[in-house]
Amino acid sequence: MMRSVDQPCPACDAVALEVFFEAPAVPVFCNVLWPTAEQALASPRGAIELAHCGACGLLYNVAFDSARIAYEGTYENSLHFSPHFQAFADALADRLVERWDLRGRNLLELGCGFGDFLASLCERGENVGRGFDPGHNPEHVARPGRGSLRIEAVPFDRRHTDVPVDFLLTRHVLEHIPRPLEWLREIREIVLTGNRPDYYLEVPNALYTLRDMGIWDIIYEHCSYFTPPALARLLTRAGYQVGEIQELYAGQFLGVEGSLAGGPEGSIPGPTPDEIAGMVADFGSLQQAKVSEWRGRVADAAGRVVVWGGGSKGVTFLNLLGAGVDRVPLVVDVNPRKHGRFVAGTGQRIVSPEALQADPPELILVMNGVYLEEIRSQVGSLGLGSALATV
Ligand SMILES: [Zn+2]
Repeated sequence: MMRSVDQPCPACDAVALEVFFEAPAVPVFCNVLWPTAEQALASPRGAIELAHCGACGLLYNVAFDSARIAYEGTYENSLHFSPHFQAFADALADRLVERWDLRGRNLLELGCGFGDFLASLCERGENVGRGFDPGHNPEHVARPGRGSLRIEAVPFDRRHTDVPVDFLLTRHVLEHIPRPLEWLREIREIVLTGNRPDYYLEVPNALYTLRDMGIWDIIYEHCSYFTPPALARLLTRAGYQVGEIQELYAGQFLGVEGSLAGGPEGSIPGPTPDEIAGMVADFGSLQQAKVSEWRGRVADAAGRVVVWGGGSKGVTFLNLLGAGVDRVPLVVDVNPRKHGRFVAGTGQRIVSPEALQADPPELILVMNGVYLEEIRSQVGSLGLGSALATV
């Protein structure tokens, strides 16, 4: 059953939000790593009430409370330890350098994390990179071999109108911003005081959740879930020319590029808002069936079951199933910064792939199909003999 919400859509302002999915108590942080199992089990929880905007196709958590979210140094969501992700990031960097002639230019990235991607753009074109990220931890800063890179652990705001910007980047940030229209407008105003930059923006693709049932991507940290028409409409309203929107990374991301100086609007791929409304109507029952199916498969599995992937998909999978350490004792991740830490809400310890050799599991649950071949080859070279299943 859908429930109407008496508040305007944060992207298009239409009063057309209807709640279609609820999760009452999920971890507030999927990507904060806890030093003990006790702290992980007691980690703060929040409610998801996911609403759909019938006017523009945005999905939005109307129960989201930004006061509960504060990104700090223990936040760890880098994917750069995966060769598959690294290959994607490298190809994207190559393409952006060619498409936008990023050579000897001033690059600005908002929400740059450790700066891995910005460093690779600086390196490729001898560019000057400036990054801003309040959650930035200077211990892990990336350093390009050519060009230069400077990262500040503060928000980018009106104090920064003098920062030269030829190209603006922001990846996997917009979905965390409670008022995305106002934020985009403010960023545009600040950078347009002295510049006419082009831009690249990347977010998770809500079509992957709705169409491909990527249900483990619904997390508290994300207040907005963007479909192509919702994202195009939002950016256009905020004054960003939408030159092109592409589905990337096996449909899991949306990448938009265009100019802040204006230009012709490109075409928007994928379903219309009406078709998206149809997917939303079917989502609740399909989501429940998928959770029930995996709960059954984990309960019925002979022998040890482990989860491969200690990012938001793995944390959400374990929490939606309610799978504790009695059923799934460990989580594996290739990121060494996660090892020895514990999963929010369900308390599994995160270990390296090599740690499985002491007592190989019968079944490894792969949280993201794009890593299946990479994981299969690692499982093979470690001689684990475990079966693999993508959730
Ligand atoms: Zn809307």
